[in-house]
Amino acid sequence: MNIHEYQAREILERFGLPVPKAGVASTPAEARAVAEKLGGRVVVKAQVHAGGRGKAGGVKLASSPEEAEQFAAAMLGTNLVTHQTGPQGVPVRKVMVAEATDIADELYLSIIVDGDLGVPVVIASTEGGMDIEEVADKTPEKLFRVAGDPLIGLSPYHARDIAAALGVPASAQRATAALISNLYRVFVENDCSLVEINPLVITRDGGVIALDAKINIEDDALFRHKDLAALYDPEQEDELERRARGSDLAYVKLDGGRVGCMVNGAGLAMATMDITKWAGANPANFLDIGGSAEQERIEEAFRIIVSDSDVEIILVNLFAGIARSDVVAQGIVNAARETGTSLPMVVAMRGTNAEEGRKILSESGLDITAALDLAGAAEVLRDKLAPAGHGKGGSR
Ligand code: GDP
Ligand code: MN
Repeated sequence: MNIHEYQAREILERFGLPVPKAGVASTPAEARAVAEKLGGRVVVKAQVHAGGRGKAGGVKLASSPEEAEQFAAAMLGTNLVTHQTGPQGVPVRKVMVAEATDIADELYLSIIVDGDLGVPVVIASTEGGMDIEEVADKTPEKLFRVAGDPLIGLSPYHARDIAAALGVPASAQRATAALISNLYRVFVENDCSLVEINPLVITRDGGVIALDAKINIEDDALFRHKDLAALYDPEQEDELERRARGSDLAYVKLDGGRVGCMVNGAGLAMATMDITKWAGANPANFLDIGGSAEQERIEEAFRIIVSDSDVEIILVNLFAGIARSDVVAQGIVNAARETGTSLPMVVAMRGTNAEEGRKILSESGLDITAALDLAGAAEVLRDKLAPAGHGKGGSR
């Protein structure tokens, strides 16, 4: 789960990291009042769950409270479009007004879970303020990585190593090392999947300060962080993802695909992705119904899949255990009738009540091809996708 910068900033502050003085505002007048309190020279920042705000006009330096008010008025109530949002952007309901910092150097610092190593990894770079993916792509030697230890944490000497690799001036070495150690505590104690400070700034007077703050909390750990869970802002999320979350379904949108996939289980989702690719297509999305046994949730899952306008064909791959095939089949049929969808479906069902499930599907009169297993589903998928490729005038 993503939270806003002003919320992440507060967490950093609580853990002893140096951050600019700031306040949050929902109206231009409030923004002006915060700017007055901070002394006039401020930066006004749109609060959205997306990076790249600077280049998109969502970060503005104001030299007076009046100017801060004007910038806030221009941002609030609009949708900000950045390279990380869709073309429709995300709504700006709040702005953060922060004391302006005099920047000498912009650095990069983040912590993520490294899936291969199975530990948190600190990533640092002298190339701050830019798109880190681009740095990783073009100049990977400029990324410095240090793995933490799940039991020991991050050793003080590691923190000092990272500060040294960042080339911070002597005046800021100690403070930077402390900042890194504290950021590691932020990561672990809040069950984060990501913390990112871009830029970490060396100030003109030789200090260090976290100028931007991004924190993602691991969804599966939210149950033990009620205070963090309360920061959930549904408005910042894609409508379909929001609906899925509301029904306890895991929905993942993928770019450039045309197959809508309904599966139960993350492992099955992976296998389904492989099979879809083997069949010559790409998934447009994944909807994991998990162990859902209620028909209503299956129906909502199906509605979400057909609401994705990229979907041209639906692949249902079910290994029924707790979820019963007949319930899923009936859910699919109900939702298909209700939505009036004409999308073809390929369905592979095994496990509990698979035969009953297939019977419900075959008697429904809908465009559904039942397959016995995943390999069979792939064959059907390939046949169905092949003519569309020609008919629609080539590759996509
Ligand atoms: P992002 O573009 O969404 O990542 O937003 P950031 O908070 O990282 O701000 C983008 C850029 O604006 C930073 O890299 C800085 O160059 C600039 N910026 C942000 N705050 C300040 C500030 O207080 N003073 C100055 N001079 N520049 C700032
Ligand atoms: Mn940034």
